[in-house]
This record gives sequence, C-alpha cells and structure tokens, in this order.
Amino acid sequence: MKAAILATPKVPLQILDAPKPQPAPNAVLLRVRACGVCRTDLHIVDGELPAKKTPLIPGHQIVGIIEDGATPELPLGTRVGVSWMGGIDGSCPYCRRGLENLCDSPVFTGYTVDGGYAEYAVARSDFVYPLPPELDDLHAAPLLCAGIIGFRSLRVAGVDPGDRVGLFGFGASAHLAIAVLRSWKCEVYVSTRGASHRQLAESLGATWAGSETDKPPVELDRAVTFAPSGDVVIAALSSLRKGGIVAINAIHLDRIPEFDYDRLLWGERQIRSVANMTRADARDFLQIAADIRLQPKVTMFSLDQSKEALTALKNDSIDGAAVIVP
Ligand SMILES: [Zn+2]
Ligand SMILES: [Zn+2]
Repeated sequence: MKAAILATPKVPLQILDAPKPQPAPNAVLLRVRACGVCRTDLHIVDGELPAKKTPLIPGHQIVGIIEDGATPELPLGTRVGVSWMGGIDGSCPYCRRGLENLCDSPVFTGYTVDGGYAEYAVARSDFVYPLPPELDDLHAAPLLCAGIIGFRSLRVAGVDPGDRVGLFGFGASAHLAIAVLRSWKCEVYVSTRGASHRQLAESLGATWAGSETDKPPVELDRAVTFAPSGDVVIAALSSLRKGGIVAINAIHLDRIPEFDYDRLLWGERQIRSVANMTRADARDFLQIAADIRLQPKVTMFSLDQSKEALTALKNDSIDGAAVIVP
C-alpha cells in the first residue's frame, strides 16, 4: 500500500510503499477513505513530542471501511471513525475507576501505533465508532479529534443548556464546539485574536466576539480556554460568576501567573484541565454532530500531498481543516 512515512522526527514525510497491515485478533483492517490533519501530527513530525515509534505513519482522525476483522457488531463494509485514543490497558487504577481518558498505558493512534496517512490502517475493534450516514467522509474526519476533544471540554466545564459560555481562542476545536453550544441554546462569548476569527465567531452565532484583551460584557457560567497561555486562563477565570468553571483545553501552558485568590477563585470557582477523551465522548459527540448536521470547513489534500498539508497547517494558510484523501 501507499503510505506517508515519518522515518524519524524532523525529517519530511516520504510517500513510500509499505506492507498492508494485518489486523490482530481484536482489531479491524480499514480501507482509509479520509484522514484529518491535526496540530498534534505537526508536533509529532517536527519532533516536539518525543518519538514513540519509528518509522511511523501519522494520522489520528481516520474514516475507513472495514475490510477484515469483521464481527457481528462491526460487519464487513461498516464505515467507522478512529480517533487519538486507540486503546487502553483496561487494568490500571484509572481504567478500573472508569476514567479511561487517564489510562496509565494508553495507545495513541498515529503516535504509539501507525495511523491513517495511508491507504490502509488497523485499529482496535473496541476503539472504532460506526459513523452516522449524515456525516460524509470528508466532513467527519476533522470531527474525530478537534470535535470530540472540544466536546469533552464542554463536559469538563459542566455546561448546561442555556448557560452563558465563554470560548477563549477560536481555532479548530472552538469552531466545532460553538455549533454544539448553539444547539443547546447557550449564549456564547468569544474572546480571540484576529478580526477574521471574530467575524467567523459572529457568523456561527456568537452573542459577542471581542479581542483577547476585551472582557465579555456579562459574567460567564462556564468558560473553555484553547490557547497554551496561562494569561488566557486568568482572563477566563476573571470573567466567571461564583460557582463557575473554566476548563483548559491545552496539553501545555506556558505558566500560570500569580493571581488574587480572594477575588478570582473564592466563591467556589474552579479551574480544570481536559485530558484526552473517552469512547462515550466520541459516541455522544458524533451523534450530536449528525443531529445538527455539523459541517466543518475542509480543504482536501491527496496522500502524495501529506507534507504540503502539514506545511499549510503550520503556516495557517488553509481555510478550515486539512483532510487527506488517499
Ligand atoms: Zn488503564
Ligand atoms: Zn488531534
């Protein structure tokens, strides 16, 4: 099969012939229909995350058709999605508590195992999600990481229907999350850098959109931050009502500046982080996405253009999400 292969981090992807993968007994073989490009792929290829497997086929937002390893629940020809969480050990203290997103020995698709920048991929049968027919291949792919994790952030922030919710930063995840919030009749307040992002937020139904230094005009019930910046977390915290929650959707923060406990955290306000995702998050979000006909903006690349897709993401030169179609 044809695949985009990372021989070693910091070396450009190469399009090569690779053996078609063989599914293990608990896995399925997928013919890849589309694979979304995520910023994490860029961190892996650029060596900003430590290498876990070399050579590696990246890609963790896979839409594929089951060609082998079918089961009664997943018959041949089923169209499924695969996300970043590719498996768990099921036995660590976190798995036993039902906190699978915090598993001590997780499998990450396109990082600890090969992913979807290829004509074929394998995935654990218990970590694939049959896709509703309302979501086509191209538009389903970007939902599988940015969408699911954005949705989890809303859960971690404890959003209830009708809440006033702040989104701090307006990238791939936030622009999918706002659609879910609008379907829950939430008022959405967006603080983000760049006039074009603010215009996009307003066109997607934001009640208010301001720059990263503007304070939302109301006290927020809930907030989610998407930037790797502790200053943004404090800006979000200072916009919350008593009992409000800010969820941080970032793997890494530069630092958290000193802040005034009496004024900002007292009153049972909370700061929470968002780590990975659970299978329930994936299933629930994909159903909501189908119900509200969520259609992210996408730009298509061929497998041969995988390198160009990553460069475009790095340079912020694409409209919407990049999707590789082999
Ligand atoms: Zn575990
Ligand atoms: Zn991702």
